[in-house]
Amino acid sequence: MSPDRAHAPDRPVLLRGGTVVTVDAARRVLPDTDVLVRGTRIAAVGPRLPVPPDAEVVDARGGIVMPGMVDTHRHLWQTAVRGYGADWTLTQYFVWFYQRYGALFRPEDIHAGNLLAAIEAVDAGVTTVVDWSHGLRTTEHAEAAVDALRSVPGRFVLAYGNIHRPPGVWATSPGFRDFARRHFPGSDPLRFQLAFDVTGDPVFPERAAFEVARDLGVPVTTHAGVWGVNGDAGVRLIHEHGFATELTVYVHAASLSDESYRLIAGSGGTISISAESEQSAGQGYPPTRVSRTHGIPVSLSMDTSAWWSGDLFSAMRATLGADRAHEHLRAHARGETITRNALRADQVVEWATRGGARALGRDGEFGSVEVGRAADLVVLKHDLAFPLLHPHGHIVFQAQRDHVHTVLVGGRVAKREHRLVGVDLQAARRAVERTVEHLRRSIGEAAWQEGVDLPV
Ligand SMILES: [Zn+2]
Repeated sequence: MSPDRAHAPDRPVLLRGGTVVTVDAARRVLPDTDVLVRGTRIAAVGPRLPVPPDAEVVDARGGIVMPGMVDTHRHLWQTAVRGYGADWTLTQYFVWFYQRYGALFRPEDIHAGNLLAAIEAVDAGVTTVVDWSHGLRTTEHAEAAVDALRSVPGRFVLAYGNIHRPPGVWATSPGFRDFARRHFPGSDPLRFQLAFDVTGDPVFPERAAFEVARDLGVPVTTHAGVWGVNGDAGVRLIHEHGFATELTVYVHAASLSDESYRLIAGSGGTISISAESEQSAGQGYPPTRVSRTHGIPVSLSMDTSAWWSGDLFSAMRATLGADRAHEHLRAHARGETITRNALRADQVVEWATRGGARALGRDGEFGSVEVGRAADLVVLKHDLAFPLLHPHGHIVFQAQRDHVHTVLVGGRVAKREHRLVGVDLQAARRAVERTVEHLRRSIGEAAWQEGVDLPV
């Protein structure tokens, strides 16, 4: 769904008297300010705006009004096994999902995971998510993924992938082309992308999949810089063969050479940092320092709730913490003390909002609270969230998902007074329970129990 195609809501919405964290070019913070939404867009931002007679008024006093957050890489289907892999390494993850059990997911299981994860995202103020959907073994699985995403009032990009076959095979199949044509006519990177990894094989077997993406006019999102899995050779191949664009998202990009970062910077690509993931799975160090050195734009992501959280507050905290820990350790190694942190809270809030819009080619359309932008907005408000002295810092280190009071997506109220609107959470719960039962039965109880610490 693009901002322009969002359904216009019936009534204007006035967010009254909040502290507005604009994430505009100057990263202004506007205390005691109203935000008026008309149709799908922000119509006015200012103090004490006149209240349109038919407006829904949200009392944002004492709270923060910020842009909806954008997650540029989350495997929504895996939320069906939330938390199961908390102690995994990347190797254990690959063995469990890629080699042994990922193929057990039926279309209804993809639907269940996607539905729960999509609901969870909107509830946590994440209004746009790139569903890095690499469990699409058949087009029936893909139909199920799309059905789930379309039933939840957020913006979801289906990034189509399939870990069970090489990208050059599935992306060129008639079934895939037919699916893409039927569901995603036109080429809107905010609706449809291709998701696959480049192994670095000099034969470049992924070329055919890149050509399909180019034909369809959609970007490719790719895990890159994953230690021991895909590294510099893949980045070089993408660039040498002319497939690197400004919309190419390099997920993790955590263990590449300077030359690879120079290539990414030169082609205008962006990196998606999943700090919780990089810190515990072993792809490499979250590349925030690298982004500063090379001037590569950043967005944030949560990767998978099979291990980690499903909200970008956690991503912001992990990102800021990782960067500062690294800088302190580097200084200590020189016998020095850091007296001013390099990475600031306002930068991380920008990455979690506008950075995602930029990665999707839509900076200027959403991701900031400015007149004319799509009305993807979040009100953070909670009885315990005071005093509010440093709004950017408050978002990064104080806010939690239960502070998300109101969520608007394209001007429509998706969450009101801490309650989701138009979502059947109980149905999602029952579907996920059926998926877990199916997996336990298929895998066998002993192997299921052993899976949390898979021997490899
Ligand atoms: Zn991933």
